Amino acid sequence: MNQTAPGNSVSHRRKILIVGGGLAGLATAKVLSQYYGSQVQVTVLEARRFAGGRVGSFHDSSMNVTVDYCQHVALGCCVNFLAFIRQCGLENDWLTTSQLNFFHSKSGVIPVRPWKWLPAPLHQLPLLWQLPFLKSTQRYEVQKALLSLARLKLDTHSRRWTAAEWLASHGQSGETIRNFWNVFSCSALGDEVRQVSIEALRQLFVQGFAAHRDAADLWIPRRPLSEIFGVNLVRHLSSVGVEVRMGESILDLRARDSGCQVMTKNGELLAADHVVCAVPWHAVSRITAGVPELSYLKDAASIPSSAITGVHLWFDKPLQINEHLVSVGTVIQWIFKPSHDEVSRFVDDPIDASKSAHYYQVVISGSQANESAGNEALLDQVIKEIQHLIPGGKETRLVHARVVTDPRAVFVCHPILERPVARTPLPFFHLAGDWIDTGWPATMEGAIISAKQAVASISETEGWSAHDIFVSQPKSWLAKLVLR
Ligand SMILES: Cc1cc2nc3c(=O)[nH]c(=O)nc-3n(C[C@H](O)[C@H](O)[C@H](O)COP(=O)(O)OP(=O)(O)OC[C@H]3O[C@@H](n4cnc5c(N)ncnc54)[C@H](O)[C@@H]3O)c2cc1C
Repeated sequence: MNQTAPGNSVSHRRKILIVGGGLAGLATAKVLSQYYGSQVQVTVLEARRFAGGRVGSFHDSSMNVTVDYCQHVALGCCVNFLAFIRQCGLENDWLTTSQLNFFHSKSGVIPVRPWKWLPAPLHQLPLLWQLPFLKSTQRYEVQKALLSLARLKLDTHSRRWTAAEWLASHGQSGETIRNFWNVFSCSALGDEVRQVSIEALRQLFVQGFAAHRDAADLWIPRRPLSEIFGVNLVRHLSSVGVEVRMGESILDLRARDSGCQVMTKNGELLAADHVVCAVPWHAVSRITAGVPELSYLKDAASIPSSAITGVHLWFDKPLQINEHLVSVGTVIQWIFKPSHDEVSRFVDDPIDASKSAHYYQVVISGSQANESAGNEALLDQVIKEIQHLIPGGKETRLVHARVVTDPRAVFVCHPILERPVARTPLPFFHLAGDWIDTGWPATMEGAIISAKQAVASISETEGWSAHDIFVSQPKSWLAKLVLR
């Protein structure tokens, strides 16, 4: 793909600098090289020593293993992300399942599988009927609200409602909100329904669960994220001619009559025909502060963020769980048992050298609610819940633990959130990143869509031929009829 077209020598290619080597920045480079490889020369500038940004891992020196900062999953409805990993040859690094394993202290583990022989959205009926911790009145409440949500047409006024306001006006009790709506809202939108917009909640249920029979399939990484994105993706990019430079922190941007320059922390001034800024919402205004046309980006710093905590645990014995549990009514929201073995280790035990430590990761979204209690109290609570409630937990002893919180893990899809678009008033400066206006919450899918929007913006400035770069979500025939 990345071949020089006749008469299009390297020196005539448009020079594109991408600031930020997270998923959005790396995907911008991939899409540019895939569709316009002969017209561009692409360099990614990443501040850290590793590419990948939030999809990354750290080395735990006590156990001498590499674990993800936080477990990531994608859903089957993340069609742009899934196409992206296929195009980069990363598909085999993921496993997929359509079974969600719920856990409630009263009912134990409840595996729920959609009935894929029924057309969407009917295939998701088990989600309502097989959750024994919902009383029949609550199931009826949820069913009614889901039908209204599917038919809901949002206008400028209703877009400003929080999901909690809409749910309360549709007869949802506090208990139904706790046991059903918040479970999904926290996991997928990063916070409870009182913080997120009804638009975001609707999109989650309509696109994520109702539109297509594969839409809610869970895609789980089989390798550490740093290996998938920081190593394998970067290797793929360099094979298609993209340069990825680490340790290149960009201090500011300078606009010129044609094109622009960026100043690195090392004092280098780099010129480009286009710059794509793919840094998070809380970092963008620092880089663009000196450019009056971009002064509107200073508001991005005040976009509300939500914390996610990963509690990394090694036990002396295995828990009796499959690859994941969605826990309801507990501080624990998800428990993951990674499918790669390297994270579970042999323990240095002078008596029994064969003793192993089994790794699990607990994920808690919206974890700012637990911040005041501190990490130790949170860890105590998590261990207590595992040892009292989770199958196999009673017999276990904790070998090692680590609590990792990202206080700005995701932005909150608040109803009054105004997100900028990829195109800016400067035709050679473009935005990417999960936080720009993709219509998606902070997800890997949002990051990939934003990258495609940035490429579409460059192509518009240059007058290049348009390509069909976006993948749209398939819908079953019934979903087309019943969903607005
Ligand atoms: C704890 C946690 C759990 C999550 N779980 C999921 C999940 O299960 N599923 C899902 O789909 N999504 C999940 N997400 C969200 C997902 O990780 C993000 O939406 C996605 O990775 C965002 O990618 P990005 O490229 O937009 O931003 P980032 O990953 O933040 O990348 C931005 C990059 O810019 C670099 N940078 C910043 N400033 C500069 C500068 N001045 N110069 C050069 N480089 C700079 C940063 O170092 C970083 O590498 C989760 C996020 C977190 C934190």
